[in-house]
Amino acid sequence: MSGAQDPADSPLAIQGLTVSYGERLALLGVDFVTPPGQLSAIVGPNGAGKSTLLKAALGIQPRVAGDLLVRGRPLPRPPRHIAYVPQRSSIDWDFPATALDVVLMGLYGGLRWWQPTRHRHRHWARECLARVGMEAFAERQIGRLSGGQQQRIFLARALAQEAELLLLDEPFAGVDAATERAIVELFRTFKAQGGSVLCVHHDLATLGDYFDHLLLLDVEVVADGPVAEAFTAANLQQAYGGRLTAAQLARLLPVSEASRP
Ligand code: ADP
Ligand code: MG
Repeated sequence: MSGAQDPADSPLAIQGLTVSYGERLALLGVDFVTPPGQLSAIVGPNGAGKSTLLKAALGIQPRVAGDLLVRGRPLPRPPRHIAYVPQRSSIDWDFPATALDVVLMGLYGGLRWWQPTRHRHRHWARECLARVGMEAFAERQIGRLSGGQQQRIFLARALAQEAELLLLDEPFAGVDAATERAIVELFRTFKAQGGSVLCVHHDLATLGDYFDHLLLLDVEVVADGPVAEAFTAANLQQAYGGRLTAAQLARLLPVSEASRP
């Protein structure tokens, strides 16, 4: 199954992406055209290459092969139109920065974080913190925030960058219900403003509520299409192999599909 998107309209089209870590193949010949103005989920088992896909898509992970296109042209470096919210576990939370510093990093991109900031930049960074409900924590060291609060700070950083495409790696992992709702709300606002989201998601039970489009991955593309079409028992079986039981599958799938003989 493949999505019928036109790369010429897409904020990020991935063509023939192959990545390996030494001998270990993480991605093989992955094609994916990010649908513009939609919320897309990347789903797959542990080790499927989901995090690698995001890093390679940003150009920060070396590729064995593959092209990255933005509306049909080569990905610019750095890709200023893309904001990245990494997996929480990959961040050094002892880093001596406040929440406001982290948001300002999104604003400055290539510039050094110690360079003086202008008043209007700080004002805009505070505005972005306010949009994720974190204005009161601007001066707090990031290591002293809860998991959900840290995730919101990184969302504020992405907003500050005024990106048109958000790449997020399991933003809902280990956050409280209030943060989960705040993130979903932010996705919807971002989409309403024309933005696109590509998000690694591990909770199949909320997939249909939160996302429009699904990329099912297991080193290779297993399925790519609207959630309503691509989220099927056959595709999940193929992606997860023996790692999901029939009972788990039945619970996860929409009622109509699960109750079919
Ligand atoms: P996912 O995010 O889907 O769990 P990853 O993209 O993190 O998968 O990893 C894909 C595969 O590449 C896994 O087998 C993983 O062990 C391997 N891998 C990831 N990062 C590295 C690395 N820095 N060095 C070596 N192998 C890695
Ligand atoms: Mg991962």
